[in-house]
Amino acid sequence: MDVLRVEKLKAFYIMESAGEERAVKAVNDVSLTVRENEVLGIAGESGCGKSTLLKSLLGSIRPPLRHMGGRVTYLHRDREMDILSLPKEERQKLMWQHISYVPQGSLSVLNPVRRIGDTFRSFVGAHLDIQKDPDRFESLVRSHLQDLGLPVDTLKAYPHQLSGGMRQRVTIALATILKPRLILADEPSTALDVVVQRGVIQLLRDIQTEQHNTIVMVTHDMAIHANISDRVAIMYAGRIIEEAPVERIFAKPLHPYTQYLIGSLPRIGDKSYRLSAPGTPPSLADLPPGCAFHPRCPNAESICRREIPSLSLAGRDHRVACFLAAKEDADVGSSEALGSQ
Ligand code: SF4
Repeated sequence: MDVLRVEKLKAFYIMESAGEERAVKAVNDVSLTVRENEVLGIAGESGCGKSTLLKSLLGSIRPPLRHMGGRVTYLHRDREMDILSLPKEERQKLMWQHISYVPQGSLSVLNPVRRIGDTFRSFVGAHLDIQKDPDRFESLVRSHLQDLGLPVDTLKAYPHQLSGGMRQRVTIALATILKPRLILADEPSTALDVVVQRGVIQLLRDIQTEQHNTIVMVTHDMAIHANISDRVAIMYAGRIIEEAPVERIFAKPLHPYTQYLIGSLPRIGDKSYRLSAPGTPPSLADLPPGCAFHPRCPNAESICRREIPSLSLAGRDHRVACFLAAKEDADVGSSEALGSQ
């Protein structure tokens, strides 16, 4: 069952300079679905639009970001709700109990001059009537922290008394205390060292197993996707250019950009030179015509410079936006079928 559907979504930053408007096309015609209980990973280089996509999924579109078209629909209590057309109060009701958010840095959530326990109290108090039953609040917070392997003493601490990894765990504890159906996580382990990073990602995985939530995880780090994601969508220049189950995308990436992303990852025992994509990503304010990857693509043909490839099916549960990759895969598929006759 799909719990979130994105259809032809466009969200651009509209910048004004010298009396002229300039559109930075951060989310440009994105369509995707998120299935119940899965971890959908969204990957791509920084500046490709993945964090703006996550903001748009939260319905948090504020100037200079502007909604230019398309829909973001959540399934909530068997009703479809278009978050971008909901009044602010309705949208806020959906937040935290139905949809929650884990930001990049914990300091945007944790008030430096408040103890962690007070932050929990005001956060939970905004959604549940904790005045009526303060004992219930205490036991809810304590048992949630214990489930997450956090010492209950953390509640007495100020954010600066905790390590970066601990603060991020507290942020995750806040985001999941009301057992939301969907968690949107934006680079939740950035700026942490590798070992702590692994712990934070495992914590999210454990919560998902326990609470049966659905997670949309944005990170540029393909190794994290390999660890946690069930499916991965690759973004390039504001568009999804490939989407497939995680095993498939690592075993058989079809888009040349995805091939570079995966080919550049280090492998244990393999000392050969890793090749990354040549050149740099285009400016989202000045995209090249046709396929936005064509100036960097070794396979580009004339059609690639003229037309934008659409995301088409290229195998079971696998979609790719590339004229040649989709064709090649279809050819391989039909010759495999002939070979098996
Ligand atoms: Fe390369 Fe053309 Fe495919 Fe774009 S559509 S990735 S330029 S082959």
